[in-house]
Amino acid sequence: MRVKLHLAPVKFKWSYENNLKEQTSRILLCQEGELRMNTPLCNFCIKSGILCQKCQDKVESGEITETDVQIAKLLLKLEEKNPSLQNVNFHNAYDVDNILAIVVGQGDLPKFLTSGGKLIRDIQESTGKKVRILEKKGEVRKFLEDLFAPVPITTINKIWLPDGSTETRVILAGQPRRLPLKVSTFKELAKDVRSITLRIAFETQEDESE
Ligand SMILES: [Zn+2]
Repeated sequence: MRVKLHLAPVKFKWSYENNLKEQTSRILLCQEGELRMNTPLCNFCIKSGILCQKCQDKVESGEITETDVQIAKLLLKLEEKNPSLQNVNFHNAYDVDNILAIVVGQGDLPKFLTSGGKLIRDIQESTGKKVRILEKKGEVRKFLEDLFAPVPITTINKIWLPDGSTETRVILAGQPRRLPLKVSTFKELAKDVRSITLRIAFETQEDESE
């Protein structure tokens, strides 16, 4: 009886340690050959296409989508020829109406522009989509300016609705027909990336154009 009681915890400890060892070797495997760009999955897993348990779980739970994996893979490939991408934090990507929004860390957008737009063109060519680089965090005004570029924003107001929710009203300079994307696409991207409910108006007309 005494022996049995003694053995049980030892056995548990042993398997726990083994488990730890296994996890550590996986982590080491994942870090091998890793470049400095940060993605939601191990760079090794993305490059090899064989996911470790941790990455597999993220994909199965839906935390990471197929689009995220494809874009992470593309960015890692582009990083080899574009050192400016090495410190980029890639969060995820959204494909809305054939517009690819690549969501990166605060301050990462300029790293995509160092090559005079060549990098963006390369991404557009590889994916066949129009590309927007958006930062996950930071000032709302800057996010909206990046989203609507090159159309200048005249005014941004926050509107509180009776149910306690908020909407962000953006008034754009110029004419609706000059918008680079559809109004619905802007709205969906703002919602996806920053959970912002947008109302879009133009200086020349007070009502929202759909
Ligand atoms: Zn992994």
